[in-house]
Amino acid sequence: MVRTRKRSKRVKKESVDLLIVNSNELITLKDGSERPRTGQQMQSLGIMRKGCLAVKDGRIVAVGKTSEIRKEFRAENIISASGKTVMPGFVDPHTHLVFAGSREDEFQMRVEGASYMKILDTGGGILKTVKQTRRAGVDRLVDFGFKTLDVMLEHGTTTVEAKSGYGLTVKDELKILRVIKRLNQMHAVDVVPTFLGTHAVPPEYRNNPREYVDLVVKDMIPRVAAKGLAEFCDVFCERGAFSLEQSRRVLVAGKNYGLKLKVHADEMSMLGGTELAAGVGAVSAEHLLFSSDAGIKAMAKKGVIAVLLPVAAFCLMTGRYADARKMISFSVPVALGTDFNPSCWVENQQLVIAFACHFMKLTPAEAITAATINAAHAIGRAGEVGSLEVGKKADVIILDVPNHKFLGHRFGVNLVDKVVKSGRLVVDKEASTIKTVGFF
Ligand code: FE
Repeated sequence: MVRTRKRSKRVKKESVDLLIVNSNELITLKDGSERPRTGQQMQSLGIMRKGCLAVKDGRIVAVGKTSEIRKEFRAENIISASGKTVMPGFVDPHTHLVFAGSREDEFQMRVEGASYMKILDTGGGILKTVKQTRRAGVDRLVDFGFKTLDVMLEHGTTTVEAKSGYGLTVKDELKILRVIKRLNQMHAVDVVPTFLGTHAVPPEYRNNPREYVDLVVKDMIPRVAAKGLAEFCDVFCERGAFSLEQSRRVLVAGKNYGLKLKVHADEMSMLGGTELAAGVGAVSAEHLLFSSDAGIKAMAKKGVIAVLLPVAAFCLMTGRYADARKMISFSVPVALGTDFNPSCWVENQQLVIAFACHFMKLTPAEAITAATINAAHAIGRAGEVGSLEVGKKADVIILDVPNHKFLGHRFGVNLVDKVVKSGRLVVDKEASTIKTVGFF
């Protein structure tokens, strides 16, 4: 009799695909806001102790204390995150994912003192990669991009932006954007496409960059937009690349064709790309090593996101970094990315966080906000990823450290223990075998 009564009281648990239980810290980044985080908000990670996530059909269906969630949900697949940190997968909002060849020879030249622009002037840098990428077929580029995405995923990145820009002809820019589309379809990592036809002035137009800008504005952008091959239009606004006026033309054309805008701005000199980004209503301005105070204020006013790339600044070897503290104090939302490319060969957002903390004095909490939810805003994916909230994609990483303050502090090794992408366990360090060879 007693037993029957007990049974009738028991609530039937809802069945889900996966429970991630008992995390030492569950970093939700939930704050109820639909805007990118600024100022003090960047410190707030929404941390839950002994947290739990319930996942069904690739989405998060519940977030809460393990003891509470387990009363309501059951699952065959349960991952224990005891002693570990659970957080949203990293979002990398700035990569040049698709290219052929490599430039390790130029790395040595840079170590010996040659500047980036000097190398570009002599046909190296981007132009060397353009030559190699034009020669490469689609399959080779897909193969390379796929392997790179594998490395990114192993290091906890579950969504990336990818730019074209190593083709610089109508045919080759479309080829790269098609490769990006294929990668998005084939790989677990989500890939958001950006058209960057104005990455460099191609050698054929060396003496007539205006004519090249005409080609981009009148031919490339309309075709890219018509084929739906890009969501964003970007431009390298820099001395030796594209002037303010040329950049403005490209951005206005992109906007007219329905593309959202990004700007490589004020990376190597104070040209005014930051102000331009605010003026044209760009979603983000990126690099920003030489941004003026007026430019930073204009970004804050227009809500332009600063995508900062400290490993790229490190690779320039000038010792200069974007003034992230000033941007945060002016209420500019800050995001972080790798700038993965042949002269900044880094796939790992954990390293970016470490550099952001060490060289730009972001706190670990600010850097985590910048590499997740603010990065998602910078590529138009904040409704889907970047925080652990009911309804969002179950893009989750489990770090083999007890709390978030290890990010930035412990670096040079991969802290990722497991990666769950759209509800599927895609990386599991415990499952990989490490054989220790020795004499005992
Ligand atoms: Fe870049």
